Parts: sequence; structure tokens; C-alpha cells
Amino acid sequence: MSISVTAANLMIDASGGAARGVAAAVGGNRGTYDGRVTDAETTPRTGKRVLLAKPRGYCAGVDRAVQTVEEALKLYGAPIYVRKQIVHNKHVVQTLEAKGAIFVEENEEVPEGATVIFSAHGVAPEVYEQARTRSLKAIDATCPLVTKVHQEARRFAAEDYDILLIGHEGHEEVVGTAGEAPAHIQLVDGPDGVDKVTVRDPNKVVWLSQTTLSVDETLETVARLKQRLPLLQSPPSDDICYATSNRQHVVKEIAPDCDVVIVVGSRNSSNSVRLVEVALDAGARAGHLVDFAHEIDDAWLEGARTVGLTSGASVPDELVQQVLAHLAERGFADVEEVTTANERLTFSLPQELKRDLKAAAARG
Ligand code: SF4
Repeated sequence: MSISVTAANLMIDASGGAARGVAAAVGGNRGTYDGRVTDAETTPRTGKRVLLAKPRGYCAGVDRAVQTVEEALKLYGAPIYVRKQIVHNKHVVQTLEAKGAIFVEENEEVPEGATVIFSAHGVAPEVYEQARTRSLKAIDATCPLVTKVHQEARRFAAEDYDILLIGHEGHEEVVGTAGEAPAHIQLVDGPDGVDKVTVRDPNKVVWLSQTTLSVDETLETVARLKQRLPLLQSPPSDDICYATSNRQHVVKEIAPDCDVVIVVGSRNSSNSVRLVEVALDAGARAGHLVDFAHEIDDAWLEGARTVGLTSGASVPDELVQQVLAHLAERGFADVEEVTTANERLTFSLPQELKRDLKAAAARG
């Protein structure tokens, strides 16, 4: 599978690997939202409107990770242990907990021999080794687009490159990727981290990145790195994933028209936090991140005519629907959906789970 993503353009060739489907960029199409939460015939016209971003919400990697936990619960029965939050969303984690998932921070908290699922953000090789030592049945729900970055890190480390990993310190994805080749990787946490970089050989340096960064800030970081290291190499394909890039692109499209942009997502969700920043940078007068509709402060809507609405890649659309209903009750009943790309990418379940599902089906 080859993937090439820029802020304004998306091409996916999903002819191989685990990926199925395509996504196509479209040019900011606008239309009345057909999933209306109010009756347009009976709702009084107020001149207030919502610009609803599309694409928004679940990406292919999150969908796969959540399905992995749900299918594992059905197949093996509760409890199923999950190392770290399967995806960074409070509602998703609470829903899976109610079904029998137990979220832990480390493998040591999982009883010997039990089943553990690794989250979509990926893990360092030592985590697989710990699981093996404790005889855990490990199912890896790492997003294939994160796995791609791990593979790049291993390859460049094997060729003895210095690897500059652009990302946020302490984020689980960065910890996992850095763990592939700790002796070769140094973290660059945004443009301000550039001055601290030291390399052994300026002719043999490559940059990689976390998948959920701001596209624009990463371009700035890379430009500053290249001022210091003119021969810096780029990754074979963009590491910032299609979902992150697409959600930022559509927010840029709607933000200049918005008095306030509301992003549904959790505070520990990197791509959700980035959407608020992107909205403000692109001209929204205000931007707010909420997990749930009831967190919206009525003061944010005072004097507003246009509210922008989107959600991070780990957010189920039911939470967006609840926000639409909340806004409609406050006079924002006209909803216009702005579409800049249609996404149809899906990933198949992890091999180890698929194998067990197939065996169970064969047993009847
Ligand atoms: S945000 Fe991107 S990298 Fe992360 S799970 Fe979704 S598709 Fe994968």
C-alpha cells in the first residue's frame, strides 16, 4: 500500500496489505446536512447556523481498534485486558469498560495467561517481550499507519541513520516508535525543539513524525531543521496520517466563517487538540474542545451566528449528533455540511484475532 498525503491533497492506493478502500479529495462541497436532528419544516428560522465538517470522527485505525476489543469480548468473554486507553476518547473507554474490558497501564497488571490488547497508538518491542514472558495472549490493535512509522524507524536505524522524530514528548505513540531504536532516535517536540538537536553525521539524518500532529506546524519544524541540516532526508511517505490531515483541512475550510468552532474530543487526544489550534489559526474567533454536549457553555454561543462543528479521529458520531441536538435547542437548527474529502479506507482486524474468529466459526 502506498500513501501520500499533503494538507490539500490526498491519494491512497490501497491495492495491497490490510487496507481496503479509497479516499478521494473533493473541493469543499457544501450542502444541507441530511442527518438532521430537527424538523426543518417546523423549526423557526433564526439566521443561526452550524457548519458541520466532513470528514470528522472515527478513522480507519480507531474503528479497527474498537472493533478488536468488541470482537475479543464476544469471542473470549469478559474480562479482556487492554493496555492503555484503546483510543484516546473518554466515552469509548467507558462504553468498553461497561462491556467487560479492563484498562491497565502496564502488562504487569494483567494476570498471567490472560488476553491483553495493545492500543491503536502502538507499543515498543519490549512490551511484546514482557507479554511473552508473562505468557499473555497479546492482540495488537496498533493502527497499520503507526506500524508503517515503526517500520521506517527500524529500517533507518539498521542503516545507521540519526532519526529525528517530530512528536509530543510522552505521547504513547512517540514512546512506542522511539522504543524501536532508542539509540538512533531523538525527539523534536515542535519548532522550538530544533535548536537542541545534535547529530553524528549531517549527511545521514532523516526525520519521521507522530501521525497526529498539526500539518502546518510540522512543515515549520521541518523547514527549521533543514536550515540547520540541509541534507536532512524526508520519510518515504508522509507520516501524518490521512485522517489527521483531512480533519485539519476541512476545519481550515470552515473556520474563517465561524464565530466559534466546537471540537468534540478528549483532552488527551492529540488530533482533537490540534483541531482546536488549527481552527483558531485559520480564523475562527473562538475554539473549544468538549467530550460531551453538556460541557458547552451557553456563553460561548452568545452573539454567535455561525458555529463550526467537528470531532477528532477517536470520536463516535453519536457524540456529534448530541451536540447538534444541543445546538438546535439554542437556535442553531440550520446545519450545512462542508465536505472536503470522502474517506472509505478500512483496515482488517489483527491477524491473531482473525485466526481465532475463523477457528471458532469452523467449530460452529
Ligand atoms: S488517527 Fe491516523 S494513525 Fe491514528 S489510528 Fe487513526 S488512521 Fe491510524
